[in-house]
Amino acid sequence: MSGPDGPLLPCPPWCAGNHSWQELDLADERHESVPVVLELRSALADVEALAAIVQYPLAARPEARMPYVWARHVATAALRRPADVVAFADMLTGYAGRLRELAAELALAQVGDRPPHSGS
Ligand SMILES: [Zn+2]
Repeated sequence: MSGPDGPLLPCPPWCAGNHSWQELDLADERHESVPVVLELRSALADVEALAAIVQYPLAARPEARMPYVWARHVATAALRRPADVVAFADMLTGYAGRLRELAAELALAQVGDRPPHSGS
């Protein structure tokens, strides 16, 4: 069983290996990558963005058995000067670049999860 002793199944290469919080239920076995995080708490903006590759290898739903990106984005901003808007845009652009990198990692994770091709 997964739990404090770790996952039952071996982790894929992209998994950060943190399984200590998981329930002692086989169906809940979950792999999760190191998340891409953007967090800003200031008088001007309150931003929390997180995205990570996750996989439930033993889930009943087939689509949950394939690695996918789970994302949460919450942002509230009161940008009073044009320079604040530009700074906010730059921050989001940087985060978007990291999401593009995560997309490439997801592509590799999904290829790695497929059964090997037979022939050619
Ligand atoms: Zn894992």
